[in-house]
Amino acid sequence: MTGIPQRIIGRFKARTAKSQALHARACQVLPGGDTRTGVYYAPYPATMVEGNGATLVDLDGNQYFDFLNNYTSLVHGHGHPGVMAVVREQLTRGSVYASPMIGQVELAELLCARVPGVDMVRYTNSGSEATMVAIRAARGFTGRAGIVKMQGAYHGSHDLAVASGNPDSDRGIPDAVRDDLFWVPFNDLGAVERLLAEHGRQIAAVIVEPVPNAGGLPLPRPGYLRGLRDLVDRHSVLLIFDEVVTLRLNEGGYQTIAGVIPDLTAMGKIIGGGFAVGAFGGKREIMLQFDPSQKGHIAHSGTFNGHGLTMAAGLASLRCLDREAIDRINELGRRLAMGFDRAFLEAGIRGRTTQAGSLVQIHWRSEVVENMGDVQEGFRAAGDLPYLLHLELMNRGIFAAPRGEYNTTSVMDSRDIERAVGIFGEVLADLKPHVQEVNQALVCR
Ligand code: PLP
Repeated sequence: MTGIPQRIIGRFKARTAKSQALHARACQVLPGGDTRTGVYYAPYPATMVEGNGATLVDLDGNQYFDFLNNYTSLVHGHGHPGVMAVVREQLTRGSVYASPMIGQVELAELLCARVPGVDMVRYTNSGSEATMVAIRAARGFTGRAGIVKMQGAYHGSHDLAVASGNPDSDRGIPDAVRDDLFWVPFNDLGAVERLLAEHGRQIAAVIVEPVPNAGGLPLPRPGYLRGLRDLVDRHSVLLIFDEVVTLRLNEGGYQTIAGVIPDLTAMGKIIGGGFAVGAFGGKREIMLQFDPSQKGHIAHSGTFNGHGLTMAAGLASLRCLDREAIDRINELGRRLAMGFDRAFLEAGIRGRTTQAGSLVQIHWRSEVVENMGDVQEGFRAAGDLPYLLHLELMNRGIFAAPRGEYNTTSVMDSRDIERAVGIFGEVLADLKPHVQEVNQALVCR
């Protein structure tokens, strides 16, 4: 026995004693000591107490280089001075009023100008609400209830987004929610064609994340998104792009890169400059269903919709995220992915990345990754490796998503990337004896 897992976990615990104590206290009042499923990892997550630029500091004073950035939302890192300044200024005038606010109009104007599929905008407090109400808009517009999702896709935490089709993992979600849902594999136009041929008349919309980030970042095949557009058009079904994450890949989101315009777009994360946010937008005739001056409009309220601090921070953040800034973080993403791929080769461990601009995902397979099934197969085969890699990277000051998701920001430079790649390579080399012992299938020499 190499004893490598025990050593890694032991080192983590020794470095994070105060986080461990807080976790025990938190477990009394928060189930599992936490309030977001995706933030948990064993043995307990480190409690972060400070973020500054690309650096996070935990309760024990350990520093981390942040490649998670609150799951892609902090595209300029922590405490960006331009964002802080407008937030402070807004605070002097109060935070939110139950009235229209100028910032809401300004941010909406910017989103409409940049994102081709967005003629009008409605704000929500999260990306989850954005997909939820976008779906309501599609149902209201078409008068149909059916929704097509990609297997393994993530669109937030409401029932319809979480429902996976597997009753075992859908605890708490009524069967009736699944009755109107259909699933197809990502990148499989034939499956969509067959489904629409059979059920097209009951289907309101197909919702798809153009590059499924939480689904493990398989890239759309050339022509896939265009093919989807053509197929839905043939059946008068609407196309919803969930760009909550992918909006960061281009000023106009992934729809601009793909040259495919959806009917509705869900947004979130970066458009709030670090504050709680979501928004959806789309074709004028669809969005006008929400006009409260019209009889029979669709209801959509929220005490904190279009919050003053969020609008100010989002506007400042997006103004700094121009084409040049996006090109720069995308190039950093490319270098990070190339460096990780090289590190896998040098360590002789089967692994690879997929990358879309500033988004990078580790995979535990050397074959092509086409859809979420491929992603899951790699992770199943990898056993405890993703977990150990994540924890040992933390031991050496690199913070990313436990599931191997990384993103780059405007406060990083190429030296930061080289440093991270170097540490990544060292950790893989240290893990190699464990891989040889428990997972020969992942050893490539
Ligand atoms: N859609 C996608 C593609 C996401 O990645 C997320 C969150 O990670 C959401 C929707 C939900 O956004 P929120 O966490 O703000 O509810």
